[in-house]
Amino acid sequence: MPASPPLSDSQLKALAELGEERSADVGETLFRVGDQRYPFIAIVEGEVAILDPGGHEIVRHGKSKFLGELSLLSGQAVFLTAVVTQPLRYIAVDRDVLRALLYEDGPLSDLVLSTFIARREALQRVQDVGLEIVGPRSSQATMRMLDYLRMNRLPFTWHETEDGLDPSSLPLVRLPGGPDLLAPSTGQVSRALGIGRELGPREEVDLLVVGAGPAGLGAAVYGASEGLDTLVIDATVLGGQAGSSRRIENYLGFPAGISGTELTSRAATQARKFDARLASPFRAEALEPGGDRHIVRLEEEHEIVARAVLLATGAQYRRLPVADLSEYEGVSVFYAAGPPEAQACGAARVAVVGGGNSAGQAAVWLARGGALVTLLHRRADLRETMSDYLIRELERHGVAVRDRSEISQLHGADGQLEAVTLTDGERLPVSFLFLFLGASPCTEWLGDVVARDDDGFILTGAAASTDLLLETSVPGVFAAGDVRSGSTKRCATAVGEGAMAVQLVHARLAGAVLSGK
Ligand SMILES: Cc1cc2nc3c(=O)[nH]c(=O)nc-3n(C[C@H](O)[C@H](O)[C@H](O)COP(=O)(O)OP(=O)(O)OC[C@H]3O[C@@H](n4cnc5c(N)ncnc54)[C@H](O)[C@@H]3O)c2cc1C
Repeated sequence: MPASPPLSDSQLKALAELGEERSADVGETLFRVGDQRYPFIAIVEGEVAILDPGGHEIVRHGKSKFLGELSLLSGQAVFLTAVVTQPLRYIAVDRDVLRALLYEDGPLSDLVLSTFIARREALQRVQDVGLEIVGPRSSQATMRMLDYLRMNRLPFTWHETEDGLDPSSLPLVRLPGGPDLLAPSTGQVSRALGIGRELGPREEVDLLVVGAGPAGLGAAVYGASEGLDTLVIDATVLGGQAGSSRRIENYLGFPAGISGTELTSRAATQARKFDARLASPFRAEALEPGGDRHIVRLEEEHEIVARAVLLATGAQYRRLPVADLSEYEGVSVFYAAGPPEAQACGAARVAVVGGGNSAGQAAVWLARGGALVTLLHRRADLRETMSDYLIRELERHGVAVRDRSEISQLHGADGQLEAVTLTDGERLPVSFLFLFLGASPCTEWLGDVVARDDDGFILTGAAASTDLLLETSVPGVFAAGDVRSGSTKRCATAVGEGAMAVQLVHARLAGAVLSGK
């Protein structure tokens, strides 16, 4: 568990004004695994030990330190137990009061948020903390549940088998300190943990945003702060693809880069500050356009009626079907080759996977930066999928091309790749891997309700025969971010489009049609 920085005297004073000063004796328990609620605890004097569910000590916190991790803000059940080890004086601040304070106090918010995020990352590496999942690798429901927990950065332990379990009721999900759930949906697990907002069977809002990636969160902040009753739903986890990026280097205002979790957690906190409602996991399953009211149907029979809908469901980059891929993503496995990646690679051995022009361009770009590049693709001849000029460029820059090559295994440690094994058993030393396997938009659920391009991305503006730049072929339904045909697949663009969509929503709701300028 990383050492957390202390609170300053002035921060302790600010907390004391809003919280309650309390004391506790040695041996007293401040909160225990499974508790649904606990306050923010700032230590004035004394010491507290943090224990895992088996009673093993993980860390101790003393004077001026604070307890808690992300569960405190999200309202999740607690994963750990806190026991007093030296006579304690502390300030207890209720979760809702703390949240309000974090909105107002930038430095405190920086300290608390970054510590909570670091603690959650550390918890994910501690054995036997969090949820326990039982189900075999061959069970799709089990693998979906594991994916969901990983995406939500929830700590868990996974066992493939356990005696006496009925195979039809897998996975078994054991909640921290709580009941066992048999074959639950991700929504049931999420709500049993206390995360995520309950939605009524029918909700009416001004703006429904489908998808809580950078585009959706951008729209939530601008929509809610500009007077629209805004609801954002997401099928998996708040933050979208950006949330899974280890380090975003090209986002304006963060010269040292920022982790995707931190950027999107901050965005979600900011959206909530303006009273946007964020609800997950709720998957949109159908859009039924109306004149001035549209209906979006969600799984588990929820129905949202909205005056305007923003589709911000993003695209899913095709990933390699290999174990432990997520451990390397963002550190030594990338889905885009830009200047930061080229710089990181330097003269290293790099493999680019894919047979299309995007893979070719990346390979040339990386080779020009000094990397030793091998391009791996599945077909017999690269000319089937890549432009001739690029194939000549690959030769010119010394890129080695390997036909009929697929990766079956990754090797390395702490996110740093060292080698890959190909399906024919050959092992190649590789320090960085770039995947260009294409991206598919998350638009299947829309059917032909809105016009889409040949690859399924949503058409907007002139391409959808409307004057409003981000409006789809259905008046009052907008699209922003990666899901939009022709968009630049970048975080900043997605946020910008989300913000801009809100202005166009206002225009549509006011009955005014702008020229798009
Ligand atoms: C590993 C990785 C690293 C990256 N690094 C960078 C980087 O360094 N810099 C950069 O600029 N860009 C980076 N990108 C690209 C960037 O993350 C995307 O361009 C950006 O996230 C797009 O935002 P979005 O909101 O349009 O979509 P997304 O982030 O894809 O979010 C869409 C959301 O919609 C939800 N959704 C989908 N279908 C439904 C449905 N039916 N119902 C409800 N919800 C649904 C999804 O669960 C998801 O949360 C990276 C991408 C990846 C995968």
